[in-house]
Amino acid sequence: MEFHGPIIRPGTDADSVFIEVTAGCTHNGCTFCNFYRDTPFYVAPFEQIEKDLQEAKQAYPNAKKVWASGGKPFALSTEKLIALGKLISKYYPDAIVSTYARIDDIFQKTVEDLKAIHASGIDDVMIGIDSGDDAVLSFVNKGYIAKDIVTECQKLDEATFPHRMIYLGRLAGKGNLFKVLEKVHIYSIRFILTI
Ligand code: SF4
Repeated sequence: MEFHGPIIRPGTDADSVFIEVTAGCTHNGCTFCNFYRDTPFYVAPFEQIEKDLQEAKQAYPNAKKVWASGGKPFALSTEKLIALGKLISKYYPDAIVSTYARIDDIFQKTVEDLKAIHASGIDDVMIGIDSGDDAVLSFVNKGYIAKDIVTECQKLDEATFPHRMIYLGRLAGKGNLFKVLEKVHIYSIRFILTI
């Protein structure tokens, strides 16, 4: 198995098979995050991905979850993500396939694109939205604002593309959790609240 950077995954997905799709993060600028500080962004060639899938299949033939690993796999083009979903499904047709996404990975993707990516075999994305407050998002250099979160998640909803979110409860400071949470309240039910 090839990995060009650390495997960062949510605790809920620790029981997955990890297949490197990217290493590092194209943004790599959130002030609170040091996951990929020393990891240049890297996109795994499909030959590497397929070789790793073959190796994983031998070791874990009945895996029920596959995590497409790396900070920004969803930054790949729609065409590449469709090819990726099909490739993983070839080896693990019954597994749930998940990966990370940033909100700005969705900007250039249409609802139809998202439907096609989902249909190819990528089952859900986990998005670090971190806060629903523009001042907080700007302070931590998140790279997008609360309105973007709502707009892009509405596209995912329209495409019936399942998505989970990471919300950093203390990021806005003591006592401000619910004040900033309510700005994206329609998605609160899906939050994985951390810190
Ligand atoms: S987008 Fe995610 S991985 Fe990239 S710097 Fe921000 S928190 Fe870290």
